[in-house]
Amino acid sequence: MTWTIHSKSTELDTLLLEESLFFNGNGYIGIRGNFEEGLQNGTRTIRGTYLNAFHDIVDIHYGEKLYAFPETQQKLLNVIDTQTIQIYIGEEEEKFSLWEGEVISYDRYLHLDKGVTERHIHWKSPKGKEVKLVFKRLVSFTEREVFIQYISLIPVTPALPVKIMTSLNGDVENFTDPTDPRVASGHAKRLSVTDVRLIDEAAYVEVETYTSGLKAAALSTVTVHNNDSSISNEVEKNGVTTTISFILNGETSVEKRTFFADTLRYENIHSTLVNSNDKLSKIPFEHLCHNQKNYLDRFWENTDVTIHGETSLQEGIRFNLYHLLQSAGQDGVSNIAAKGLSGEGYEGHYFWDTEIYLLPMFTMTNPELAKKLLLYRYSILDGARDRAKEMGHKKGALYPWRTIAGSESSAYFPAGTAQYHISADIAHSYIQYYLATGDVEFIKEAGAEVLIETARLWLETGHYQNGQFRIDTVTGPDEYTCIVNNNYYTNAMAKQNLLWAVKAAKLIKEKAPEKWGSLKDRIQFEDEELNEFNRAAENMLLLVDESFGINPQDDTFLQKAVWDFEGTPEEHYPLLLHYHPLTLYRYQVCKQADTVLAHFLLEDEQSDEIMKNSYDYYEKITTHDSSLSSCVFSMMGARVGYLDKAYDYFIETARLDLDNTHGNTKDGLHMANMGGTWMAITAGFAGMRVKEDGLVFRPQIPKQWKGYSFRVQYHNNLIHIEVNNEHIQFSLISGQELMVKVWNQEVAITHEKPIKVPLKRGV
Ligand code: BGC
Repeated sequence: MTWTIHSKSTELDTLLLEESLFFNGNGYIGIRGNFEEGLQNGTRTIRGTYLNAFHDIVDIHYGEKLYAFPETQQKLLNVIDTQTIQIYIGEEEEKFSLWEGEVISYDRYLHLDKGVTERHIHWKSPKGKEVKLVFKRLVSFTEREVFIQYISLIPVTPALPVKIMTSLNGDVENFTDPTDPRVASGHAKRLSVTDVRLIDEAAYVEVETYTSGLKAAALSTVTVHNNDSSISNEVEKNGVTTTISFILNGETSVEKRTFFADTLRYENIHSTLVNSNDKLSKIPFEHLCHNQKNYLDRFWENTDVTIHGETSLQEGIRFNLYHLLQSAGQDGVSNIAAKGLSGEGYEGHYFWDTEIYLLPMFTMTNPELAKKLLLYRYSILDGARDRAKEMGHKKGALYPWRTIAGSESSAYFPAGTAQYHISADIAHSYIQYYLATGDVEFIKEAGAEVLIETARLWLETGHYQNGQFRIDTVTGPDEYTCIVNNNYYTNAMAKQNLLWAVKAAKLIKEKAPEKWGSLKDRIQFEDEELNEFNRAAENMLLLVDESFGINPQDDTFLQKAVWDFEGTPEEHYPLLLHYHPLTLYRYQVCKQADTVLAHFLLEDEQSDEIMKNSYDYYEKITTHDSSLSSCVFSMMGARVGYLDKAYDYFIETARLDLDNTHGNTKDGLHMANMGGTWMAITAGFAGMRVKEDGLVFRPQIPKQWKGYSFRVQYHNNLIHIEVNNEHIQFSLISGQELMVKVWNQEVAITHEKPIKVPLKRGV
C-alpha cells in the first residue's frame, strides 16, 4: 500500500488540505487537487494552476522606504483554470455534487508509482438516479505541457441522460490572506485575458500579466468516447465553455486535455500549443499513462528509499520524494519554490531551501536534474551582481533571499536580504555537486564563476580585526535572531566558499587555461584576489565559547536572556504569529537550526565534543517553528549519539504534510522538509557525507526498524545501500569499482558481490 496515498474523507477541512497533498505536477505545471465539480457553496478553497516561474511584478508598499529596499517583488500567478467540469444527470439535469443526494462510496488515491491521481465515487442523486464516476488526473512528466482529466462514467440507473459542461477560464486570481505573513496579502488579480477563441474544435485562452509582460496560454480539447454524443463550444469574454450530451448506456469516458505554454519558455505560445496538440492527439490516454509509469520507474529505480518495519514512515518518505519530483523545475529558468507547485504560500519564491535541503537528494540521485537547478542560479548571477552593487559592494554577487526572476523579493530585510548566507549556500551546492559527480565541465562553464563571485562578496562584507576576519551585520538561518555579527553558520559557510573559489580557479587554470583567461577578463579578476580569499578563509572568526564548550550562534547571542518557554502558552506557537520581531530578537530563542545546521554541513570544522554540546544547548531553545528545523536535529542527533532523538525528529519530518503537523499544509507542501526526510535517512541514520576524499558513512539503525535502503549516484556509479541491525551492505548496480569509507575503514565496492560491513555498537 505504500505506493498509494488513500483518502476517504469528504470533510471540508481535509479537502482543503488535500488540495495540496493530491496536487499533480511535473516541474512545469502544478494543479492543485481541486474538485472538478467544486465544493459545497461558500467553502474555503484555494483553486490553483501554476506554471513554474510564471509571475507578475507587484509593487511593495513601505511606510518608510529606505535606500535599496526593493520596490517590487515577483509573484507566482494562478493561471488559466481548466479544472471545472460539471456533470448533470437524468432528464431533470441534477448536478453532481458530493453535498447533494447520497455518496454511496468515495475513495481518493494518489499513485506514487503511476503518477496519476484518482477519485472513485458511487453517487445517488436526490431524485434517486445512480452513477459511478472515476476521475483521473495526469500531469505528464514526458510531455511537459499537458494536463489530462479523464472521467469514466459507469451507469447504474440504465439509459441515463448526461450533460457535461466544462470550461477553460482566464478570469482567475490568486489566494490572499492578510492575517498570515507566509501568504500573500494583496495583488490577487494580475492577469488580463487577451485572446479567447476556438482553434478547430479546441478552446484557446491567452492571458497577459499586468506588469511583467509575460503571457501564458492554454488550449484544451474534449473527447467523448461515445458515438452518440453531441458537443458544442461557446466562446465567452474570458473563456470557452464546452457542453457535451449523451445517453449513458455503457461505461463512457470523457477526456479533457489541456496544454499550457508561456512566453518565458516559448517564443510563440500559440503555435507551441497547436503543435503539442497535433503531436499528442493521436496518442491514447493509456499510452501516456504507460509513459508516465516508465518515467517514474526510472525515477524510483535511482531514488526510492525503503524502511522495513514502519509502513506509515515508508508512505511518508515516498510521498515526499514524489512531490519533490513534481515540483522541481527542469528547464534552467525555474527552480523549486518553498511550496513547490502545490500552492501559493511564500508566493512561489525560491529560497536557500533549494540548495541546502533539496539539492542533496537530487545531486545524489538525479544529478542531471540537479544540474538544471544549479544552472538556474547561474542564469540569475547577473542579478546577484547588481544586487551586490546596490547594497554598496564594489564586487561580488549577493543572491536574493527570495526570488523568482532573480531580483530581491523580500520586503523585510532583517530576515530577508540580511541572510547573506544564501550566497554561500549556493556555493555549497555547487561544491557538493562537483564532489558527487566530478563534473569538471560544469565547474568550467558555470561553477567557478559562481564560486568566485560569491567569494568576492565575503571580502566585501567582512573585515579584519586583531588578525581575525569578521563578518558583521548579517542574519543567519535562525530568523528569530537578526542582524548580528559573526553568525557562526555564515562565517563557516563563507570560509568554505572562499576556499573553494580558490580550488575552482586552480582547477580551471590547470584543465582549461584559455577558459581561465577569458573568465578572468570577463569578471575582471586579479590573481591576487585568490590570495585574499585564502587569507580571509584561514583567519575566519569561528566563535567558540569555552565555558559552555559550544559555538555561540553569534557575538552576542549568549549574552541575551533565555526566552521564557515555560510561560509561553502552546497556542502562541509559532511565535512569529504572536510576538513582534524585536521581542524575539531580544532573547535566546531559535526558530530553526542554525549552528547545528552548520555542524551538519561542515562537520570537520569542529570537534565531536563541541558539536554535541552545541546540540544540547540549542535544542533547548529551538522552537522548530520553521519546518526546516526538525530534519537537521534528526541528522545531527544521529551524528552526536542521540539515536532516539534522531528517530523522534525523523517522525516529525516524515509525515509533516501528510499529518498537517504545522497546520498550514493547505497553503502548499513544505518542500525543504521533504528533502530533509531524505537527508535524515541518508545523512542522518546512514551518516553519509560527500567529502573531497570520497563518500563516508557512519551507519546506524533506529531500534524500531528492521532495515532501510537507498541508492546514490556517485561519479556515475549507482550504488545500492542497505542497512539492517547487523551491517551496512553496498552493491554496485552500475559503474565502476570504487572505494568508500565506513567510519574510518576503507571499503571497496565491486561488481563481484555485495560487500557487508558490521555496524558499530553503542555509537
Ligand atoms: C524559514 C526560512 C525558509 C522559508 C521558506 C521560513 O519560515 O525560516 O528558513 O527559507 O521559510 O521555506
